[in-house]
Amino acid sequence: MGDIYVIGHKNPDTDSICSAIAYAYFKGEDVVAARCGEINAETSYVLEYFDLDPPILLSDGGGKRFILVDHNELSQSVDNMDQAEILEVIDHHKINFSCSSPITFHTEPVGSTATMIAERYIGKIKRKIAGILLSAILSDTIVLTSTTTTERDFEMVKKLAPIAGIEDIKMFGMEIKRKKSSLKGLTASKIILSDFKDFEFGEDKVGIGQIEVVDFKESEERMDELIQELEKLKDENDYSLLSLMVTNIVERASKLFVVGDRSKAEEAFKKPVKDNSLYLDGAMSRKKDVVPFIERVFR
Ligand code: MN
Ligand code: MN
Repeated sequence: MGDIYVIGHKNPDTDSICSAIAYAYFKGEDVVAARCGEINAETSYVLEYFDLDPPILLSDGGGKRFILVDHNELSQSVDNMDQAEILEVIDHHKINFSCSSPITFHTEPVGSTATMIAERYIGKIKRKIAGILLSAILSDTIVLTSTTTTERDFEMVKKLAPIAGIEDIKMFGMEIKRKKSSLKGLTASKIILSDFKDFEFGEDKVGIGQIEVVDFKESEERMDELIQELEKLKDENDYSLLSLMVTNIVERASKLFVVGDRSKAEEAFKKPVKDNSLYLDGAMSRKKDVVPFIERVFR
């Protein structure tokens, strides 16, 4: 029947890539790690650090068999997933999934998919896999500071770090995060799309990109260019609302640059959009601090 692919979401982040590698490793021979997008600078640093190859790149899911990690919405998955067979899901996002046959479906409200995989295999994890799982947890939880972080993430980090040979967890985590925080040399389109997710709320299509920065300066200097690119993407792809969430990991706050039906964003957060953006104190997580509020006003 051929291989089974473990795959994360489009515009893959460190959790999607590392969870796919780790889960495929534990599942055994005919299970292969895959990805459906370019590896970002942060993930590439992590893979080089622990000397592991990236998963194989797939552009079409049709006719193949999959285990989904770090997502369950087909709109975020490899193309033609509706013509694929999904055997299993392991994820930590809201559920927007249906399937005509029974499958293994495991979601939990923890900080990363890597946390769930680490918990399952903790007694058997060796250095490299411990390293990438640790990196994925630190990445997704923004070094254990995101609002999505749970006790279980802390627990796994504590167990994985010594196996991975990482002594200073915080320093290693910040080092990972810094790899992705500079906007220098990136086009506006790349900034918006490097960590981008599509959502379908009824008839409405909403897109939200996220970047993590150590200060707001660079993104503000390029505001006009970013808004222009957002407008272009919105028109080309028919979004009702399109946003770039700029998360300041030092200040622990986000600015949402928004185009499209801005009144929906204002209604969602009960705040006016000023200079094309909305300031959200304490907002670190797209899925927890932003998506539910926007979804509510579209339903
Ligand atoms: Mn992810
Ligand atoms: Mn994740």
